[in-house]
Amino acid sequence: MNLLDTHAHIYSSKFDADRDQVIAEIRAAGIEKIFMPNVDVSTIEAMLDCEKRYPDLCIPMMGLHPCDVKEDFEKQLEVMRNWLDQRPFAAVGEIGLDLYWDKTFFEQQKSALRTQISWAKEKQLPIVLHCRESMDETIEIIREEHDGKLRGIFHCFNGNLLQANQIIEMGFLLGIGGVSTYKNGGLDQVLPHIGIENMVLETDAPYLSPVPFRGKRNTPAYLPYIAERVGDLVHLSKEDVAKQTKENALNLFKEFKL
Ligand SMILES: [Zn+2]
Repeated sequence: MNLLDTHAHIYSSKFDADRDQVIAEIRAAGIEKIFMPNVDVSTIEAMLDCEKRYPDLCIPMMGLHPCDVKEDFEKQLEVMRNWLDQRPFAAVGEIGLDLYWDKTFFEQQKSALRTQISWAKEKQLPIVLHCRESMDETIEIIREEHDGKLRGIFHCFNGNLLQANQIIEMGFLLGIGGVSTYKNGGLDQVLPHIGIENMVLETDAPYLSPVPFRGKRNTPAYLPYIAERVGDLVHLSKEDVAKQTKENALNLFKEFKL
């Protein structure tokens, strides 16, 4: 199976002890590319190191994660803007809104999101969105900022069917990960009703391991378990899920030379 992991933090320090071994397992599992979302200024170096070390596999994005939007967010955004001006990135990400962890900086989160969306529009890059407890708020901002061409992924989608359809109507894809394998994840109520052409696969490693690895460190090597689960929900073979979701991802990231 040839799979693309559209969202994995393979540069995380959780892989520092055995990254070469993990990368070998990822290749053996048939994963062809790993798209790496940035988090904040402190993760850039490790991310670009991974790209340098595994250039055929690891592809970076650039952006500021909503959980790291704090007092200094404008300074952080300046650093990221400089990087985006210097070299290619697959997307602006991960960006978005998070009302789960801390609501203190919600206004700043919205401002950082709008700024980064404007960069994506200017540079014609897709965006990779993180939204937790904030799906409707994020959909509203995307709708307001949409220029007809803006595209991207709602990473770790865990919303309802109405929200899924709103996202699809805006031309965005749903990033489907380990949550699809959880009994109470809710995606069994959504995915059977939307087409595979609207989905991409992701692990969000090292977080959110799919069943039967739930609670353990996640790795892109577990992506076939997600492909199989999605196949069960949409009545396709895991090979067909792999093929179609790969095409969807390549289509989205086409501006970036893969
Ligand atoms: Zn992430």
